[in-house]
Amino acid sequence: MNYYSLNHNAPKVSFKEAVIQGLAPDRGLYFPECITPIPADFFQHIEKYSYEEIAFRVIQQFVGDEIEKSALKQIIAETLCFDFPTIKVEENIYALELYHGPTMAFKDVGGRFMSRCLAYFNKDNKDSKNTVLVATSGDTGGAVASGFLGVAGVDVVILYPSGKVSDIQERQLTTLGQNIKALEVDGVFDDCQDMVKKAFLDPDLQHKNLTSANSINIARWLPQMFYFFFAYKQLKSLDKPLIFSCPSGNFGNICAGILAKKLGLPIKHFVAATNVNDTVPQFLVEGKYNPKPSIATISNAMDVGNPSNFIRIQEMYNNDLTEFKKDFSSYSFTDAQTFDAIKTIYNTTKYIAEPHGAVGYLGLKKEMQKQENCIGIFLETAHPIKFLDSVEPALNIRLPIPTQIESVMNKEKVSVKIKTYEDLKTFLEE
Ligand SMILES: *Cc1c(COP(=O)(O)O)cnc(C)c1O
Repeated sequence: MNYYSLNHNAPKVSFKEAVIQGLAPDRGLYFPECITPIPADFFQHIEKYSYEEIAFRVIQQFVGDEIEKSALKQIIAETLCFDFPTIKVEENIYALELYHGPTMAFKDVGGRFMSRCLAYFNKDNKDSKNTVLVATSGDTGGAVASGFLGVAGVDVVILYPSGKVSDIQERQLTTLGQNIKALEVDGVFDDCQDMVKKAFLDPDLQHKNLTSANSINIARWLPQMFYFFFAYKQLKSLDKPLIFSCPSGNFGNICAGILAKKLGLPIKHFVAATNVNDTVPQFLVEGKYNPKPSIATISNAMDVGNPSNFIRIQEMYNNDLTEFKKDFSSYSFTDAQTFDAIKTIYNTTKYIAEPHGAVGYLGLKKEMQKQENCIGIFLETAHPIKFLDSVEPALNIRLPIPTQIESVMNKEKVSVKIKTYEDLKTFLEE
């Protein structure tokens, strides 16, 4: 399968090249050259297939023959090492829990899949290594780091803002060891991000084979389609149209859902639920895309003012806003509304949502008022323990610590403190 750049000013590349490069040389995002729907009988009989079989069927056309069939099956098996349950929260409303992986964030799926693809492409290349550079405001870094832990031929360097991530998040970033290095930056998230961007453009660092591991990378983005198929498998027997609400930041997750629909998955409608970083909801109202600096919120993994994957979504609708709005709504919510929703959901249903899931729930409820006789599914993208600073005060309870988190609590933090871009460069060159 070939991929083209959405800036249309770079050569087409293979799946392998697109994964290794991350971003095209013209700074555009890669997009698959063709999308072939899966035959209807696959959906009619989906309950017969295991999650691994479904994932293979879904991703195979995007990989083509660039990874051998048996190796691709192995990569999928290692990626899907945990469950994706749909939990009934109230009548016709379900939570799709994506947080049962090693770092308890949905990014575990993309992180694990991408790391294993890179390792596969590197296996015959014993002398050169890839270095994955990631800037994180908290949640992404842990999933990426854990996905790459012990993967041969790949080093991971994570930059995080000192004192700006939670205790649990910091432990997840700094206690892994092996091929994972954590850099503690004296600054804010934007400083980390700027340093990473600068490094990608720095000719002195070309020989380091730097690559990024956020959802601009197709190997992080595409496997997110799996969840939508898994939810369909679980809820198909209810025999009602499905509406998915995704708490959205960079819009990678929801963009994968739309691609799943293009493959034939029967999804009636999508809701992109955001916090006050409302660039997309505003776009739907005004028809003008007006990116803004990000604003800090309690659902901080969605604090994005210029969602990078939105351009892929527009591509799938040929930039036709009218067609797009038939399938897609977007609503934004404040921290106060989110905090209230965490309380209300718990008080009425005993379900514990964290801030991102609660935003998804609010978006879903708003859309369900307009839709009749549907099943609504909101994505729960992180375990509540990772956002206990909002969940515990909202519910006035103490959350038990899950085993995945407990295992990092007594490990020793190892990080290197840096201040400037020169510090980063020196570190990478050593
Ligand atoms: C990354 C993240 C999101 C946003 O996902 P996008 O694909 O960037 O829209 C939502 N919730 C959590 C917990 C996340 O880590």
